[in-house]
Amino acid sequence: PPDVEELGRATWTFLHSTAAYYPERPTPFQRANMLNLLHALPVLYPCTTCAWHLGENMKDHPPDVSGRVPLSRWLCERHNDVNERLGKPKFNCSIRNLDERWKDGPAD
Ligand code: FAD
Repeated sequence: PPDVEELGRATWTFLHSTAAYYPERPTPFQRANMLNLLHALPVLYPCTTCAWHLGENMKDHPPDVSGRVPLSRWLCERHNDVNERLGKPKFNCSIRNLDERWKDGPAD
């Protein structure tokens, strides 16, 4: 079976980075592809208990692909739901904090 921690760090890096660089005003084609990417995770993610929890969570919290700010916040909140379940600290989901971590790096 995969190393669930290594897989998780790599996947969160991919997802948060992709959200951080998602357009402010995505085209219908970009929105549809982002929805496909996110809806594929509960089906294909190779940690099956993780995938199941994500699928249940997404039923209550459908993805908001209308732009990079709402998408980044939605994803941060889903990651925080996992953090909470695992007893890890919650991340501050302000766009400023998200961009510092996943897009711009710390201001000097
Ligand atoms: P990670 O949680 O991997 O975070 C990586 C980095 O992201 C952090 O160092 C921090 O800089 C940043 N970060 C932290 N929180 C946020 C946030 N809310 N928003 C933005 N950035 C943030 N593991 C399980 O054991 N059981 C599960 O059910 C489970 N479900 C998962 C579901 C999904 C969809 C994914 C992608 C992973 C899941 N994992 C699960 C793995 C788990 O979330 C962690 O990736 C793993 O435990 C390693 O944790 P970590 O402390 O190294 O940091």
